[in-house]
Amino acid sequence: MKKIENLVIRGMTRRFGAATALHNFNLEIAGGEFITLLGPSGCGKSTALNCLAGLLDLSDGEILLNGAPIQHLPAEKRGFGMVFQNYALFPHLTVQRNVSYGLEVRGVAKAEREKRVHKALQMVHLEEFGKRYPAQMSGGQQQRLAIARTIVLEPALLLLDEPLSNLDTNLRNEMRVEIKRLHNELGLTTVYVTHDQSEAMSLSDKVIVMRQGNIEQVGVPQDIYKFPRSLFVARFMGYLNRFPVTLLERAGEHWLVQTPAGITLTASATTEESVGWQAGQKILACIRPDETLADTEPSINHIQGRVQLVEYVGRAYEVLVQLEGAGNTQLLVHSAHAPENGATLEFTLHPDRLLLFADDATNEGSGSENYTRIEPDVMKVEG
Ligand code: ATP
Repeated sequence: MKKIENLVIRGMTRRFGAATALHNFNLEIAGGEFITLLGPSGCGKSTALNCLAGLLDLSDGEILLNGAPIQHLPAEKRGFGMVFQNYALFPHLTVQRNVSYGLEVRGVAKAEREKRVHKALQMVHLEEFGKRYPAQMSGGQQQRLAIARTIVLEPALLLLDEPLSNLDTNLRNEMRVEIKRLHNELGLTTVYVTHDQSEAMSLSDKVIVMRQGNIEQVGVPQDIYKFPRSLFVARFMGYLNRFPVTLLERAGEHWLVQTPAGITLTASATTEESVGWQAGQKILACIRPDETLADTEPSINHIQGRVQLVEYVGRAYEVLVQLEGAGNTQLLVHSAHAPENGATLEFTLHPDRLLLFADDATNEGSGSENYTRIEPDVMKVEG
């Protein structure tokens, strides 16, 4: 296998007619890294992946593999492997032939072919299925076959475009572990495309959040999760509680802010734009439901609300509360126990986890379907 030392992408741009699907995309990938392109539908993830794969020409920019430009090479000369969302298997070939086909085309001798096919099927736990046809296998098995067919060619770079989106939740979680295991065991360099933030968080060394053809934020999963640099990224990472506040004054590392109903809170401004903020400015305060703390001792940002709705979400209850004296401001709060509807719930919004963002007046990037379900109820705020 031709190992990747580094892959440098500079100014990669792709236009379709007058529309720019990908704009000035810059990224450095080190050998062995697992990179994820994350973003909502239409943000340019697949375009970026297809440009890397050689399936789409670049309108501008360059791709350097170990220092050498490869953007003019056709897909088959790049030595990359691609796994698609729809698997793209050959239905009339057995599992074994599906895996061996690429080796046959490349003129690999029979004995070597058989050895490599056997090993690839073993890696994805399909060694018993060699004689079957794709239609005789489950979705998860077909997905594993698609991966075996790609890794048997020992690609320098593995490119995966939403490979798990057709699978049910259990299988998706299982396959997620399998993909990470293969990446580690084979020492692969992988670029993975998804719109699922939890998939991106669990798999990646580095996450690239994309928006409208541009890179919005690059970072390790922990940074993207804890310190989104824009409201767009925050929305995408599940900061569902968002309410307008007015800046009062700086307080060391924090800002004192006031809700429309006059509650004073301490919050964090972590974005670059916040440097220029002035007292009196209206912005948004955001916090993830699972980072609120119910039933805490009175402390800073300790507030209360009336329970409107309780949902069990696994490790905790998610409680929709209406802030007292705050018009229509509703928040989702996590609680270890299930409070009664109409009861008063006390909770804390930790100042370091209550993040401030300028409102970008769009509603992009609400991310996973799980969240949009409740989102319309969360943000009714009387101003
Ligand atoms: P999804 O998650 O829905 O697959 P994506 O983030 O992968 O979305 P792309 O498929 O890269 O998005 O598309 C980016 C933009 O480019 C979209 O606005 C899309 O409509 C446009 N686009 C993609 N392919 C073409 C094409 N062949 N011709 C014209 N426009 C295109």
